[in-house]
Amino acid sequence: MLKTKHNTMYLTDPLTKHFRLKEGQTKALKRLGIETVRDLLYHFPTRYGDTTAVKTISQLRDGEHATVYARITKLETGKTLRKIPMAKGRIEDDTGKADVIWFHQPYIAKQIQLHTSVQIDGKVKERNGIFSFTNPEIKVVEDIPLNAGQSLFGDGDNLFGYPIYQESRGITSKWMYHAITRIFASGMVNTLSDPIPPAILKKYHLPQLSTALIWIHTPKKRIDAETARKRFAFEEIFYIQLVKQKNRKEYEENPSFLISKTQKDIKQFTDRFNFKLTQAQENAVTSILKDISTPIAMSRLLEGDVGSGKTAVAAVIAYAIVTTQPENQNFGNLQVAYMAPTEILAHQHFQTFIELFSHLPIQIGLITSNGCMKFPSKVDPTQATKISRAKLLEWVKNGEIPILIGTHSLIAKSVAFENLACVIIDEQHRFGTKQRFNLRAKHDYLPHLLTMTATPIPRTLALTIYGDLDITLLDQNPKGRKQIETKVVLPDEREKTYNFIKEKIKEGRQAYIICPRIHEPDPANEKAVSARSVETEVEQLQKNVFPDLKLDKLHGKMTPKEKELALEKFSQGKTNILVATSVVEVGVNVPNATMIIIEGAERFGLAQLHQLRGRVMRSHHQPYCFVFTESSSKKTKERLKALTKAANGFELAEYDLLQRGAGELIGRKQSGISDLGMEAIKNLKMVEAARNEARDIIEKDKNLDKHIKLREHIKTLDELHEE
Ligand code: ADP
Ligand code: MG
Repeated sequence: MLKTKHNTMYLTDPLTKHFRLKEGQTKALKRLGIETVRDLLYHFPTRYGDTTAVKTISQLRDGEHATVYARITKLETGKTLRKIPMAKGRIEDDTGKADVIWFHQPYIAKQIQLHTSVQIDGKVKERNGIFSFTNPEIKVVEDIPLNAGQSLFGDGDNLFGYPIYQESRGITSKWMYHAITRIFASGMVNTLSDPIPPAILKKYHLPQLSTALIWIHTPKKRIDAETARKRFAFEEIFYIQLVKQKNRKEYEENPSFLISKTQKDIKQFTDRFNFKLTQAQENAVTSILKDISTPIAMSRLLEGDVGSGKTAVAAVIAYAIVTTQPENQNFGNLQVAYMAPTEILAHQHFQTFIELFSHLPIQIGLITSNGCMKFPSKVDPTQATKISRAKLLEWVKNGEIPILIGTHSLIAKSVAFENLACVIIDEQHRFGTKQRFNLRAKHDYLPHLLTMTATPIPRTLALTIYGDLDITLLDQNPKGRKQIETKVVLPDEREKTYNFIKEKIKEGRQAYIICPRIHEPDPANEKAVSARSVETEVEQLQKNVFPDLKLDKLHGKMTPKEKELALEKFSQGKTNILVATSVVEVGVNVPNATMIIIEGAERFGLAQLHQLRGRVMRSHHQPYCFVFTESSSKKTKERLKALTKAANGFELAEYDLLQRGAGELIGRKQSGISDLGMEAIKNLKMVEAARNEARDIIEKDKNLDKHIKLREHIKTLDELHEE
């Protein structure tokens, strides 16, 4: 495989320089993100296989756990005598046949085509000489390994287990293993210098880069593989932290606006609220006031469960800012930009702010891609009015409008401020430093930044992806809220649930019904998995279940106008039941809606389910959440049970992290963290260590002049993470 011409191998070399690759192989590698020698070395095994567990069908034994590679020769859906839906079929290899059966998973028969090669992994049963697998794991494979049933790497050559890599059509795990051992044989790995300072490696007992690479790909002992994984997990988090800490340092070097407001000033404003701030809200306000009272720009994340009252905190901060005059000026106001993730939410915040600020001489603007508004109107000072975008931008630019609320269009290049002192971002997971620099006001003053999220994520993950922010938890809900009753509903209790909802609607309440899909799957597409859809469900329910009630729908494929109308009717109580996709997840506030049904709940992460039920926890009426699931797997049952027990989203996020991995909490793309890095996220000590070490380095050597290798290394990362 290795060409002799190019004996010296470098990390940055394209693989094609050293390996003779067929076009299909190059493409397959590219799909996996592998182009250079480095990419391949950093394509870590997903697990280590036990060579003894791969069997041919003739080698199977009753009661043992085995993996076989075989072809599907029969596959159909059916029902048991007790009407449990199932998929059943037969597999064959060159040595024999076995039966396979999956209870409760009839869709498997639709997903997998006849004569496909598959890997079946599960417990073997033998009855009258016939082997069978019940509910085994099934995976489609490109082809059946020739030597399945024999040890993959010969006997004794590998004491611990062989590495199994993520594959792609055209490239097998085995190919990768051999390619990597060739790279090792070239000796290049031993010449690699490690960007991580030796003192750090020593402190945390982590192996050197070259050792770790060899251990992760060709471990002789389990402990070697584990130690190597630990090193790469640490490395990933450490590099991310370095980037974040460096960005933060750069950000803090710019001057910002000094806002000195006391609790007493604030009280004038909050006394007008029709509620008392919770202690958590008070604490958040105190931290924020302290942040903005220094000339270093604030970088703070306010993480609070749904309904914990983040908007009120935002309003208080906005008040502190816009009642402050620009430096050396005894007129005018500093400005606030408040960005919401959806048009619906931007409107909602606009309304809330009008109520809270209408007694003050403060104008409020609204900007979305569908038009602009301003409060108060010149004609009727109690009302908001539509205005042109040009006019709005002019008044924002000359500082006449101190508060601008909007969607993403708020940070468009054309929007300029006179004295932008604070940016508040609602429900936005990522808002990079670069974007913040774009919002620079004149005199190069940087605005303070407050981002808010209700996505409960574990502390370790927050420390990592929000490494450049200080975090405040709003860990207390306003008093008087009723605990939500969450019930996992069995199929035969559906009727009962609908009747209950009818009763409550008679009492004046409203309900959401959440479906996983918008449309029914195309019946021609065999692979599509069935799940309830908004379009079908709204019709079906209207006709068969709630003929006397007013039903409506809401989903992402509707036009902004249609969506707005649907929400308006629902919030005015003209609609009793809103059938929707999870678009209602973020921030929609209709206090009279106190019931939510979630269909296909196994498809949602626990934290997301919690977000969804948060929609009905907004008033003094008892809220209810009914969770329906098509799955009867034990794991799903346990997860959903956790939902009925846990009081807050953070508990659930921790649970999801342990059960399903961090990838479920926040998309891998979104966080930019690999699967291995996500393993590190489960370990608070490791995350804190990586953060402290990174902070230490940046504190003493902010441009990494004394850490050239590190600087080189994170340069590419920085670009990746800041898109
Ligand atoms: P979230 O944190 O999910 O954004 P909101 O800011 O939308 O929550 O607040 C949810 C509801 O709680 C709103 O109707 C708001 O007026 C109300 N609220 C906020 N703070 C308090 C409080 N301290 N006491 C009572 N109600 C409050
Ligand atoms: Mg909110």
